Amino acid sequence: MNYSVKDRFLKYVKIDTQSDGTSQTFPSTAKQKNLTKIICDELTELGVQFTTNDAGYIYAQIPSNVNKKVPKVFFCAHLDTAPDCSGTNVKPLVHQNYQGQDIILPDDTSQIISSAKYPHLSDKTGHDIITASGLTLLGSDDKSGVAIIMDALAQMIHDPSILHGDVKALFTTDEEIGKGVAKVDLKLLDADFGYTLDSGDLGCFEDENFSANALTITIQGVSAHPGYAKNKMENAIKIASEIVSQLPRLTLSPETSEKMEGFIHPTKISGGLESASIDFILRDFNTDRLDEYTHVIDHIAQEVLLGYPNSSYRIEVKKQYRNMKDVLTAYPHVSQFALKAMENVGVTPVPGRIRGGTDGAMLSHMGLPCPNLFAGEQAIHSKHEWVSVQDMQKGVDTVIEICRLVTED
Ligand SMILES: [Zn+2]
Repeated sequence: MNYSVKDRFLKYVKIDTQSDGTSQTFPSTAKQKNLTKIICDELTELGVQFTTNDAGYIYAQIPSNVNKKVPKVFFCAHLDTAPDCSGTNVKPLVHQNYQGQDIILPDDTSQIISSAKYPHLSDKTGHDIITASGLTLLGSDDKSGVAIIMDALAQMIHDPSILHGDVKALFTTDEEIGKGVAKVDLKLLDADFGYTLDSGDLGCFEDENFSANALTITIQGVSAHPGYAKNKMENAIKIASEIVSQLPRLTLSPETSEKMEGFIHPTKISGGLESASIDFILRDFNTDRLDEYTHVIDHIAQEVLLGYPNSSYRIEVKKQYRNMKDVLTAYPHVSQFALKAMENVGVTPVPGRIRGGTDGAMLSHMGLPCPNLFAGEQAIHSKHEWVSVQDMQKGVDTVIEICRLVTED
C-alpha cells in the first residue's frame, strides 16, 4: 500500500507511547514497543533492512544507488511522547484547507487553538492542520519526525531515479525522559553524520544547544538541643536559605533570561538542621561559562559560611550534555547540506538554537555530528499540539534532497 506522510502520522499518533521518567526499565514503558512493531512491519513491507534492540530502537538502512563513495547519512526521530500530558486514546482530527479560524477542540471546548496564541498558525492558510481532540496531546513531537523519515525512505525505495548514498534511519525510545540515545550502538548505526527531525515550524534548523552541568551543594551544620543551643547550633536549613537568597535574580535565572543568556537554576532544596543540600542546573551556550557559574555558587557559599565557623560545605558537579556547536564547527558541511536542501525545496531556513539539550547533541559529542531539522511540531507537550500536513511534506522533501545533495558533493 502507498501511504502518505499524513496517513503514517495519523496511524502513529493513535499508538500511546508515553514514556515515564520514574521507571527503571528500558524502555521506560513497554507500550512504546507497540509503535516499534508497527514501524518494523512497515519496513518489512517496504523491503527495508532493519534491526531492533530490547529498548525498542530501530536501525533501518537503504543501500546506496550511486556507484561512488558518498557519506552515510542518518535521520533520527523518537517514538515516545512526553509524560507531561496524556497520550492515551489520541483522536487526531484533520482540519482540511484551514482558513484562519480558531480551532475549538470538540472533546473539551475550552481548548481553543488560535493564531493569536500560536502566530505560526496564521501562515498556514490553505494547509491541512492536524490536532488532537482536546483531552490529550497529539504526539507531533516526535511522530511527525517518524512519519517524515518513514515516508522519505518509502519514496526513495519506490522511485529509483532519486539518487542517494547509504541512508540510515534511527528510531529511539525514552527521548522525552532524557535517555533517547542511552542504548544507541554507533557501530550498528554505521553513519558519518545525520540529523534529528524534532524541531518546530517549517524551516527551523538548530545546530546549537545549551551546555549543561548539574551541581549539588551539601551543607554540614551543627546540631544541638534547641533549649541549650546558644552559641552552639549552626542550622543547615538557614545556611542553605541564605545561599539561595544571595543567588543572582535579575540576571542568570531562567525567569529573567532568554536567547543567548545562560543561568544558574536551583531546582531542589532538601535537608534538616544538621545537613541540607541544594540541587542546581547550570546552563550556557558557552561551555566555559559553566565553570564560572560553579565559582559564583562557591563564592556565595564561602561568604555565607563566614557567619557559621563550625559548618562546612562541599560542591559536586556532574556533566550533563554539551553544545553540539562545539563539535559541528569542525563539520560545516553537515549544516550546509541541510540549509541548501531546504532552499532547493523552497523552504526558507530559520536557524535557531535550543535552550535545552537534544539527542543530536549527545550523538554529536559521541562522534556523530547531528543538528536538528524541522518536523513541523507546534505547541508540543500540550493539548493544543498541532501540525501542518504540508509542513511535514516539506520535511520529507528536505530529507530526500539532503540524501541527493550528498551524492553530488
Ligand atoms: Zn521531541
